[in-house]
Amino acid sequence: MNKKLLEELRQKLEHERVSIEGELKKFAKKDEKLKGDWDTRFPHWDGSEVGSAALEKAADEVEEYGTLLSVEYNLELKLKNINLALEKIKKGEYGICENCGKKIAEQRLKIYPEARLCLKCKK
Ligand SMILES: [Zn+2]
Repeated sequence: MNKKLLEELRQKLEHERVSIEGELKKFAKKDEKLKGDWDTRFPHWDGSEVGSAALEKAADEVEEYGTLLSVEYNLELKLKNINLALEKIKKGEYGICENCGKKIAEQRLKIYPEARLCLKCKK
């Protein structure tokens, strides 16, 4: 891979990393003990209200929490792959399929720079 393309992809990855971290910060807290891990904050209901209205509200929040968790999971996974790709660029191992060890097509990396597998192995 030529240096120009590599630099382009590196910038793209850095940019994505910043935007994903920004998304995560809106509803999750970075876990300081576990590198690269984020915890979704449970939304505001503090349990001080009683009665059926409060229960209903709590149920909504649980549902909201569940949605956030799956969003968080996907963002976190993407962030992990991005960090991994940036790590590989540093080590000069970028663009190699983790499964078969062959080069991942540049066309694929342009669309999906954090790809860890070539198209063949992805299938
Ligand atoms: Zn492969």
